[in-house]
Amino acid sequence: MKEIKYPIYKFSLRWNQDDYQNNSVGCSIMYKEIPTKEKLNNDLEEYEYYEDEVWMLNWFNHITYNLFETDEEVERSFRNFIDRKMQINRKNGHGYTEHHHYNKDRPFYCFMGAEDEWRWKICRCDDCKRIGKITISH
Ligand SMILES: [Zn+2]
Repeated sequence: MKEIKYPIYKFSLRWNQDDYQNNSVGCSIMYKEIPTKEKLNNDLEEYEYYEDEVWMLNWFNHITYNLFETDEEVERSFRNFIDRKMQINRKNGHGYTEHHHYNKDRPFYCFMGAEDEWRWKICRCDDCKRIGKITISH
């Protein structure tokens, strides 16, 4: 099984309310190849490099461009990914179900349910096929 870690960038919006300061929503974008500065500036207003990884979190799903041959390979890759992130969370002192607030020094990787294997569903839609991506919803 051949896996590639793709460059992932994050961009976010922050705003303050009277009753709740420092609100933010974030989104990530995964590139097949390292993007040029021009490309990044063109795609996103503000961004920061996040990590190189096989899988990237979207809203209750994860995506990758890796072209695995079987569902077993997809699931094995995703399981390894979850294990990697769980180890990092544990190293950063985060428990399994605790409620997390943003902490720059001890970042927490949010799974959005992906840690429960019974939720996994590999998407087979034409959109995914057309752009050569694999999606696991959870
Ligand atoms: Zn799809």
